[in-house]
Amino acid sequence: MTTPRLLLLGCGHSHLFVLEALARGEMGNVRATLVSPEEEYFYSGMIPGVIAGSYRPEAARFRPRRLAAAAGAEFIAGTAERVDTTARRVHLRGEGALPYDLLSIDIGSRPAGLEIRGAADHALTVKPMHAALRILPAARGAIRATGEKRPARIAIAGAGAAGVEVGLCLDARLRREAERGDRHHITVVEAGDEILAELPRRSRRLAERILERREIETRLRAPIEEVTGDELRLGKGGSIGYDVLVWALGPAAPPLPAGSGLPTDDEGYLLVEPSLRVPGHPLVFGAGDCVRMREHPWVPRAGVYAVREGPVLARNLTRALRAEPLERYEPQRRWLSLLNTGDGRALLSYRGLGLHNRPAWWLKDRIDRRFINRFQSLERSSGS
Ligand SMILES: Cc1cc2nc3c(=O)[nH]c(=O)nc-3n(C[C@H](O)[C@H](O)[C@H](O)COP(=O)(O)OP(=O)(O)OC[C@H]3O[C@@H](n4cnc5c(N)ncnc54)[C@H](O)[C@@H]3O)c2cc1C
Repeated sequence: MTTPRLLLLGCGHSHLFVLEALARGEMGNVRATLVSPEEEYFYSGMIPGVIAGSYRPEAARFRPRRLAAAAGAEFIAGTAERVDTTARRVHLRGEGALPYDLLSIDIGSRPAGLEIRGAADHALTVKPMHAALRILPAARGAIRATGEKRPARIAIAGAGAAGVEVGLCLDARLRREAERGDRHHITVVEAGDEILAELPRRSRRLAERILERREIETRLRAPIEEVTGDELRLGKGGSIGYDVLVWALGPAAPPLPAGSGLPTDDEGYLLVEPSLRVPGHPLVFGAGDCVRMREHPWVPRAGVYAVREGPVLARNLTRALRAEPLERYEPQRRWLSLLNTGDGRALLSYRGLGLHNRPAWWLKDRIDRRFINRFQSLERSSGS
């Protein structure tokens, strides 16, 4: 019997657990290949902390090539463009196609709203994570360029968790670096009625007070209609001038699932059963931000869920290789949200609870370090 070929698309959070299971020899006799466009992958939970100056970028980094080596998998630097489920091949951008016997897709999401006129040309996105590392140098550059004339204007599009957290961490860092008085002004621009709409009321009120204290302006009910080189034009008239534009409008579905004719929801997210298998495609699995769980459509796009799905995905891929029954992934209804506010504190939200303090930052730091250490150790075990 020939060795089955397991093809992993994307080195997202869930696939880290599959690579770990491969490294531990838990998946049996399989020839695995990892496809990733990036040589470096930065852990999103720590990126705001990198911007705030709490971590060096290397401390928040994985190297997919080394992880693949540790797992005994082949590494292909590339981007999957289309899955041909009939021929059981994945076509890569440019040239080339890879065959598979079992396929797993963990390619994350793409930034929403980049179709707004001018956005793709002028905005710095918070995703992919390596792109988020350009935000701090851009803000410093704007501060140097505006000099003593006026504060550099930093606009953050989107008042969800990523926009608010990056805004607070950037503000904290720039304040620390400022020699004389603040030389920047941050405005968070949001189309909806609220900041952090996904958090409990108490946390939202706390976050509003933190932003106010930091003199970070929030503009609500301000849908962005067009982006020029120095201005956000708003749908309801009016505009906001900027020197640096950070784009954090949340996630959108990646084009691959719909472009491959795989089953998707209305937004283009890959549908999966509770086993993380794609309905009607027994050889295709998916996890993380790129999927919509058919039975649990409420699952938010958060790393917490991608991480919890990882071990189940690893076990179910193993079971699929052995033609054994699959287990169900049951998403937790409530999850702990911890937003780094960049000042040695974090905003903790759980159920109706909201707290902003140092122990919350200690907890976040501990959880994130434990996660990154686990997979950086795996990376080191490759010895390459
Ligand atoms: C600033 C910021 C902070 C965040 N903080 C938190 C937090 O503290 N807690 C939390 O729970 N969530 C957080 N999130 C959300 C979290 O980042 C995502 O939910 C999480 O990354 C999803 O993981 P994933 O496994 O789906 O894929 P990802 O981690 O997005 O990884 C997908 C990988 O696939 C690759 N890829 C993409 N397309 C292709 C392709 N076609 N072929 C091959 N490879 C491809 C990508 O390059 C990437 O390496 C944050 C998000 C942002 C933007």
